Amino acid sequence: MAANKKLLFLPGDGIGPEVMGQVRRIIDWMDQRRHVSFDLDEDLVGGAAYDAHGSALSDATLDKAMNVDAVMLGAVGGPKWDNVERHHRPEAGLLTLRKELDLFANLRPATVIPALAEASSLKTDLVSGLDLMIVRESTGGAYFGLPKEITDLPDGGKRAVDTQVYTTAEIDRVCRVAFDLAGKRGGKLHSVEKANVMETGVLWREIATEIGKEYPDIELHHMYADNCAMQLVREPKQFDVIVTDNLFGDILSDCAAMLTGSLGMLPSATLSGADESGRRRAMYEPVHGSAPDIAGQDKANPLATILSYAMTLRYSFDMGEDADLIEKAVGNVLASGLRTGDIMQNGMTLVSCTAMGEAVTVELDKLAA
Ligand code: NAD
Repeated sequence: MAANKKLLFLPGDGIGPEVMGQVRRIIDWMDQRRHVSFDLDEDLVGGAAYDAHGSALSDATLDKAMNVDAVMLGAVGGPKWDNVERHHRPEAGLLTLRKELDLFANLRPATVIPALAEASSLKTDLVSGLDLMIVRESTGGAYFGLPKEITDLPDGGKRAVDTQVYTTAEIDRVCRVAFDLAGKRGGKLHSVEKANVMETGVLWREIATEIGKEYPDIELHHMYADNCAMQLVREPKQFDVIVTDNLFGDILSDCAAMLTGSLGMLPSATLSGADESGRRRAMYEPVHGSAPDIAGQDKANPLATILSYAMTLRYSFDMGEDADLIEKAVGNVLASGLRTGDIMQNGMTLVSCTAMGEAVTVELDKLAA
């Protein structure tokens, strides 16, 4: 098959290259066994790019990112670059990518793989079978609104201001992503804000309700953010898709993440709006960071990155069946008792990052046989 699917790999720093190496293994498997080829390019980002070019994201790399169907990123950062000026820090490369690609919808699934249900901080029966998706608005709201400042007061004290601001267009576009997703999943959407005390919440609710009329098949619920936090730990399986603003999404997605047990298991995607042909720019990455404490030791859990690759197939290339296959292979490998250190449990077998990646391809072989 012709390689018309353009993918840019940015492994980054720390364990980034190790976990991305295991995705390459799966890409090779797909090429050989399913005849699916990608036009795959690789480049530097973060500290590695700073060391090579004096910038955490070179113009040439950004240009490549603007011209592919999807970017896959490992992780950036580490103590080596802690004292670099802020605008050259590894994280600046990531923020520039998000801004320039206009990636405003952050998708964070929280799926409990049966073999890991006991690793959750909640009781197994509350989380087993859990499969929810949080869509977080990620370029607006309280983290970016102006004014944002600390000023001196005449009494010698200070005054700090963050501004929560949203426009119709910003709310509309992220809600549409969430409605579309709900349509492809369980057909249920919770729109989460605090319309009881915040004007942005009133506008958010109004717009979500309006868009809901265009999606009569989606069951739309409105929920206050504080209640949502409570419901996530009380009865998480009531949710299918949750859409919310930047600040609430930051908190609620971390809360949902812990329902699944481990940072090394969590994938994510960030999407832009759709162009006329329906194409969205997208970046896929594990939720975890560069884990400098275990970098270079072949100890990292590659599954969050492998699951991010499955999201790439599902959302950028409409290859849901292949994504299902990879997710199933990951579930089976865990069910067989293999564990990296971060998810190690009594009676299980401790394996390296490489061995975990190999096990997933062996399982793919069995599933595809
Ligand atoms: P971290 O996610 O890198 O690590 C937190 C803990 O989880 C560590 O003990 C680490 O060993 C463990 N861990 C993380 N991922 C793992 C995996 N795949 N397998 C096994 N164990 C894993 O967070 P941190 O320690 O707060 O940050 C370290 C560096 O990563 C910092 O420079 C930070 O800025 C950066 N960071 C980058 C991103 C990103 O690239 N998106 C996200 C978060 C943090």
